[in-house]
Amino acid sequence: MKSTLSSETINLPFNYSSIKNDFVFLASGDDTQTSDGTWVIIQSNNVVLEQSTSGLTLPNGKLPDWLSPHQTPLCIGSWHDKPLRAISISGSQELQLPFVAATFNAVDDQLDIKTLTLAGLAKQILHWERQSRHCSLCGAETAPISASRGKLCISCGAEHFPHIHPCAIVLVKRGEELLLTRKAEWQPGRYSLVAGFLDLGESLEECAIREVREETGINITNVRYVGSQNWPFPAQLMAGFVADYDGGEIVIDYNELEDARWFPIDALPTLPPSRSIARWIIDNFK
Ligand SMILES: [Zn+2]
Repeated sequence: MKSTLSSETINLPFNYSSIKNDFVFLASGDDTQTSDGTWVIIQSNNVVLEQSTSGLTLPNGKLPDWLSPHQTPLCIGSWHDKPLRAISISGSQELQLPFVAATFNAVDDQLDIKTLTLAGLAKQILHWERQSRHCSLCGAETAPISASRGKLCISCGAEHFPHIHPCAIVLVKRGEELLLTRKAEWQPGRYSLVAGFLDLGESLEECAIREVREETGINITNVRYVGSQNWPFPAQLMAGFVADYDGGEIVIDYNELEDARWFPIDALPTLPPSRSIARWIIDNFK
């Protein structure tokens, strides 16, 4: 196994390890600090950063009036012993320098791993907060459950906890070839691995087998787990697998994919950026 990237998936962006030494989670309702802190400002699929001589950083201290939050900021923890607060702003809000928008799905890895991970965590928590305002059983409002990110329905008493959606992502090998696929919305020429959401009644290995068969017509065997990555877009857990070809010809599901084909490992196309477990699996197991 090569180690051209972080040698373990726990070191990938969006997983907790990169921030664990300087970040402490605060549960709902714990923002009792009045001191200035650091901001994670989410704008659609971007994080708003401040341009300075030291590069692009999360904004600190008081925000300018035009950027001040209309809603109560959500304190998600402490970062270097100061509050880390998250807000969403409208996609139509125009930014003024030195504030700039950096996209989560940039073609290249332009953000450092800690910024990316903090921003992803904030995005995921803000998504859950939006989703959990009302009880899914009776429709009444919910209130935070102390010391957690859970919500309690104030009417029927049901408890709700963050929804995380498991996905299998799988590298399929046939000798010295890899099965890669592309979706129409990706940048031209870019290919990646087959991936899909876990279905009811499935193990993750069964999910990998089904997704490969449904999307490409290929049967796989010897499916082995290699690592996982938190993927906050909006709330997936990507479980990575490597598998061997076990028969079948490529039949593309054009509802899902634009293309699927076998690539020789010495002539691979444009691949996903290294922040993703897709690239980590390809680089480590090709
Ligand atoms: Zn309820």
